[in-house]
Amino acid sequence: MIEIKKILCPVDFSETSNYALTYAIDFAKVFNAELELFHVIFDESQIVAFYLPQVTFQNFDKELEEAAKKEMDKLVEDFEELKNVNYSVKFAKGTPFLEIINEAKENSFDMIVIGTHGRTGLEHALFGSTAEKVVRKAPCPVFTVRLKGHKFKMP
Ligand code: AMP
Repeated sequence: MIEIKKILCPVDFSETSNYALTYAIDFAKVFNAELELFHVIFDESQIVAFYLPQVTFQNFDKELEEAAKKEMDKLVEDFEELKNVNYSVKFAKGTPFLEIINEAKENSFDMIVIGTHGRTGLEHALFGSTAEKVVRKAPCPVFTVRLKGHKFKMP
């Protein structure tokens, strides 16, 4: 019998990611699994610092972190059903798909539940770019969730 004891749900606070979270919560209940809500804070400041080394980004980084924590707090508040599962929250900094794959590998997750589109609003044939890369490189099965009524667009 397959064991699903640890579920990773990368969240970017978009409508699709919220919808994917409803699946992740239900899977956690069904399998009695631990659920981790994982958000990757973009490390844009590194890129900007490359071109503008004279600018200090300490405050900028701090503000990004605080904004991300606020969004996560609001998400947890909005999803009352989280109270009925064993969940935790975690943040990382960097490129979302790399950090998601790394987290799944390093902490031996059994399953990833991810939205097919996110906040970036990137139009891809099937998946948002993060989901597509995660599906390709993840060390465990990935359950992708498309927003209800999201229309397929021909590339
Ligand atoms: P995207 O590639 O931006 O269209 O996002 C597709 C999905 O990847 C979203 O629905 C989220 O589940 C996940 N995702 C995107 N960006 C992040 C991020 N910064 N942190 C965690 N998960 C993310």
